[in-house]
Amino acid sequence: HSGFVAIVGRPNVGKSTLINEMIGQKIAIMSDKPQTTRNKIHGVYTKENKQIVFLDTPGIHKPQSKLGDFMVKAAVGTLGEVDAALFLIDASEGLGGGDRFIIEQLKNVKTPVILVMNKIDKIHPEALLPLIAQYSALHDFAEVVPISALQGNNVNTLLDVLTKYL
Ligand code: GDP
Ligand code: MG
Repeated sequence: HSGFVAIVGRPNVGKSTLINEMIGQKIAIMSDKPQTTRNKIHGVYTKENKQIVFLDTPGIHKPQSKLGDFMVKAAVGTLGEVDAALFLIDASEGLGGGDRFIIEQLKNVKTPVILVMNKIDKIHPEALLPLIAQYSALHDFAEVVPISALQGNNVNTLLDVLTKYL
C-alpha cells in the first residue's frame, strides 16, 4: 500500500492544511510561495505498511497565457501518472467556475479521483448531500469523503480510503 497521490484544488480550499494534518508536521506551509515548478513533493506519509508521497499539482486553472496553458497541460499530465488524486473542494463555498475548470480537465484522466469535501465544520449537515449530487453529476468520482482538515475530522478515514488505490 504505497504510492503517489496528487492533490488538486483551487487556492484556499485547504490543501496545505490537509497535508499538514496528514503528515503531522508543518511542511506544506512552505508551499504558499508562488509555485513555478511542475510538481512539488509536499510530504511523505509513513505508517506501518503504508508510504504515501503527496504531490502538489499546482496550476490547474483557466490559463491566461501560453505559459499558463503549458502548465495546465503539465499538471494534467501528472494526474495521469499518479496512483490516485484528491480533488479538494470547499464545501462551504459550493460549485464555482474554478472547480468546474478542474473537473473539465479530469475528463481526460484515467486515474481514480477522490472528491474530498473540505470545511464541513462550516456547513449545515443537510447541505452536504445536495452538494455531493451536484459534483457527482459532473464526474465519476472513485469516492467522496467529507472532512474538516482544520479540525482533523474524518482525515483518518480519507487515508484508509486512499489505501485502496495504492
Ligand atoms: P490551500 O490554498 O488550498 O493550500 O488552502 P490552505 O490550507 O492555505 O487553507 C486556506 C484557509 O482555509 C486557511 O485559513 C485555513 O485555516 C482554512 N481551512 C482549511 N481547512 C479548513 C477546514 O476544514 N475548516 C475551516 N473552517 N477552515 C479551513
Ligand atoms: Mg496551500
